Amino acid sequence: MKYTKGDWEVRFNTTVRVGDDWIASCVGSGKVNAEANAHLIAAAPELLDACKKGLNEMKLWESSESCDCPPEGHICGVIRLRQSIQNVEQAIAKAKGK
Ligand SMILES: [Zn+2]
Repeated sequence: MKYTKGDWEVRFNTTVRVGDDWIASCVGSGKVNAEANAHLIAAAPELLDACKKGLNEMKLWESSESCDCPPEGHICGVIRLRQSIQNVEQAIAKAKGK
């Protein structure tokens, strides 16, 4: 799947467009929520890109991580790092419709 390239921007408070291309129109769940939803959708390409770059950095960090933790388990934070990697991978998969 490929998403529409370009600058996703909120117009008329609740619509998301790229130029003249209509990406989304947020309706329901109240005006305030609809506006917040539109802004979240408009930020999606940047969020996806930031997740991909952050994931690469986290994987580099994980692969270079060495610790002196006891054999019964890590106390160094690598477990939280691995959980964060998994969370970001799941978010990226969701964004890709997987
Ligand atoms: Zn450790």
